[in-house]
Amino acid sequence: MNIENLKSAFEKVFGENENTKLFFSPGRVNLIGEHIDYNGGCVFPSAITYGTYAVVAPREDQKVRLYSGNFEDRGIIEFDLTDLSHADDEHWSVYVKGVMVQFKEVGFEIPTGFDAYVYGTIPNGSGLSSSASLELLVSQILKELHGYDISMIDMVKLSQKAENVYVGVNCGIMDQFAIGMGKKDYAIKLNTNDLSYEYAKANLGEHSILIMNTNKKRELADSKYNERRQECDAALELLKTVVDINFLCDLTVAEFDRVSNVINKDVLYRRAKHAVTENERVKLAIEVLASGDVHRFGKLLNESHKSLRDDYEVTGKELDTIVELAWAQEGVLGARMTGAGFGGCAIALVRNDAVEAVKEAIAKGYKEAIGYDAELYVATIGDGTKTLA
Ligand code: ADP
Ligand code: MG
Repeated sequence: MNIENLKSAFEKVFGENENTKLFFSPGRVNLIGEHIDYNGGCVFPSAITYGTYAVVAPREDQKVRLYSGNFEDRGIIEFDLTDLSHADDEHWSVYVKGVMVQFKEVGFEIPTGFDAYVYGTIPNGSGLSSSASLELLVSQILKELHGYDISMIDMVKLSQKAENVYVGVNCGIMDQFAIGMGKKDYAIKLNTNDLSYEYAKANLGEHSILIMNTNKKRELADSKYNERRQECDAALELLKTVVDINFLCDLTVAEFDRVSNVINKDVLYRRAKHAVTENERVKLAIEVLASGDVHRFGKLLNESHKSLRDDYEVTGKELDTIVELAWAQEGVLGARMTGAGFGGCAIALVRNDAVEAVKEAIAKGYKEAIGYDAELYVATIGDGTKTLA
């Protein structure tokens, strides 16, 4: 699918229309700070130029008709604004209804529906957050069509709530925040504890971020994700008996070392240790990047991966294989899994003049070790969700 062809793709499905608008919502990579957005930690994501597009025409009635170029076999999905309850065979419209329900809950009327042709360039279910991309896309469509007075931050929060409450995935705020608030050439330092944030120039010098999609579907990811959250909560409860904290990431590593013996189960200790050490790595990573020390930044990416592999146990064979292959290449400064883990994508920081050779070596090594292909592409840091035209 070519982005220039989106309008004609819309017209093929819904017929000619002079009143269409074009919307874009990016995917995101998290540079560092994994599995701590629900532990009150700092994360450091960027929006990327891969994302989800929609061509949308307003309707005068209360019908919503949806079509995704990524799920063509599903055909047109249709529902009425007067009934936003879960359908048995909901499919991807769950994200659309979920966002609508949240808007209505805070008092925004949705008087009329729309026809939307959606197409995404982010691989689904790979940890680049195509779901949050879609949620913010829907938020932006609703705002634009109905002229709501709502800030991007509030749309970010409603989108997260849609995923938590309606879709039933207990995600933190990072994905929606990075996608809604993204800015070309910048990463966002987001404190998930109080939602304070700062844009930090992604000073990568002569280096690029290579996205490495393992093409391993994240089976069990949601149940494992919820299990990690429960483990963190359990560790936090134990720590709270000796220190006054709200989140694991309220502790520095030194403070954690002083009190961690209260966590009497090894697995809970390691989960908490990941959260606390990862939070310090993020702060350090932001500092070293600001000073232009890309090599140090790369080393922190490696440490992050090892912590996610050994202490948090969310990597798995495919992610470990692809990251280790990256580590072995000349011109790679660092690599780590990104997103929830258990499959999906990793990122590597690669010297620009080495990108092609690195891609080739990783593609070959991965196929040999795993038996199927990985996908490798350079990410460009782009803007957040917006109306294009
Ligand atoms: P991730 O967010 O990591 O990509 P998820 O499983 O959370 O993975 O979200 C993927 C789901 O989001 C898809 O199965 C689909 O329901 C929905 N989705 C994402 N992009 C699109 C799209 N372009 N068209 C239709 N649905 C989409
Ligand atoms: Mg998702």
